[in-house]
Amino acid sequence: MTGEAMASQPMEGGCLCGDIRYTITPPALFVSQCCCRDCQKATGTGHTTIIGIHKSQLAMDGTPATYTNTGDTGGRVTRHFCGRCGGRLYTSGDLPGDYIMVQAGSLDDPGQVSPQDVIYVKDKPHWDKVDNTLPQYAELPPPPV
Ligand SMILES: [Zn+2]
Ligand SMILES: [Zn+2]
Repeated sequence: MTGEAMASQPMEGGCLCGDIRYTITPPALFVSQCCCRDCQKATGTGHTTIIGIHKSQLAMDGTPATYTNTGDTGGRVTRHFCGRCGGRLYTSGDLPGDYIMVQAGSLDDPGQVSPQDVIYVKDKPHWDKVDNTLPQYAELPPPPV
């Protein structure tokens, strides 16, 4: 399948135990690998891969548990995950434009997306490898025009 064909397919996913399922209506607005400390603590990994979409593009089947804290930019950040298996689903917060960020690893076929950049590289542990062919940003990329 070409990248273009994949980009037009609805993307389905869910948590580890299957209690919570979701469908994303394309297109993804951005796909980033995030190395920030909060992502590390929330997922137990060196970095996590997130799919940025508008909230209206996500249809949930099931009700995730949530945890809210204050993010790097001072706004509230809420992480949505399965209360039974702990599987991470998406993150929402005080972001411009009503964006949410879905965990790419929770897709049924994570190969449906391709990361375009790596963010918060300043927090990346030395043992974690990211794609060095992608643009890397110490924190966030410059805002889109
Ligand atoms: Zn679950
Ligand atoms: Zn992060």
